[in-house]
Amino acid sequence: MIKKKLLCLFGEPNTQNVEVSNVSPAVLHYLEPNPPTAKDKSAMLRCRECKKRKTRYLCPVCRERPGLCVHPCFKDHHSRN
Ligand SMILES: [Zn+2]
Ligand SMILES: [Zn+2]
Repeated sequence: MIKKKLLCLFGEPNTQNVEVSNVSPAVLHYLEPNPPTAKDKSAMLRCRECKKRKTRYLCPVCRERPGLCVHPCFKDHHSRN
């Protein structure tokens, strides 16, 4: 009797209803470390966005592979296009 009642309360399969984000860019941009060269093991790049700071990270998806600060320049750079 008690078991049946619990099933009624919790038996509905709503747990797989995963929300999908509405924002789906055509290409997903991300940051990856600037690959070290033979000359420079940790080559720093000038940030393309703020043009002030230096960063080790670049977006390999963008055509020019620009160097970008992790925050906030990465987001700023991609929210404009
Ligand atoms: Zn920056
Ligand atoms: Zn990008």
